[in-house]
Amino acid sequence: MSSVFCRYCYKDINKRDELVTATNYLRIRPYHYLCFGEVEQETIATVRSWKPMNGPMGNITFAILLIFVGVMALTDVFEEIGNLLGALALYPLILRILSFFMYELRVPVHKDGR
Ligand SMILES: [Zn+2]
Repeated sequence: MSSVFCRYCYKDINKRDELVTATNYLRIRPYHYLCFGEVEQETIATVRSWKPMNGPMGNITFAILLIFVGVMALTDVFEEIGNLLGALALYPLILRILSFFMYELRVPVHKDGR
């Protein structure tokens, strides 16, 4: 069922628990949890590091950004600047949603497909 493979070791990712989707500007890549640790080690010295999107921290960030974009879209608190900030905050939201549909949905939560 899974056709998502890790960009580090090129093996299938069989469980949602093992999946880390990482973003680096416009790119989204799936990794195993352990493989992402290796990727982080290799890129830790560079500015263009990969940032994981899924997992608890990613979900909290997602929720905060969603509220932020909502407030900016629905209120005139900061007027023009608020609209700009709202648009900027949309970018990681869109990446997160893309990551979900491109990779996370295709990896079963349990190995037997439940
Ligand atoms: Zn891997």
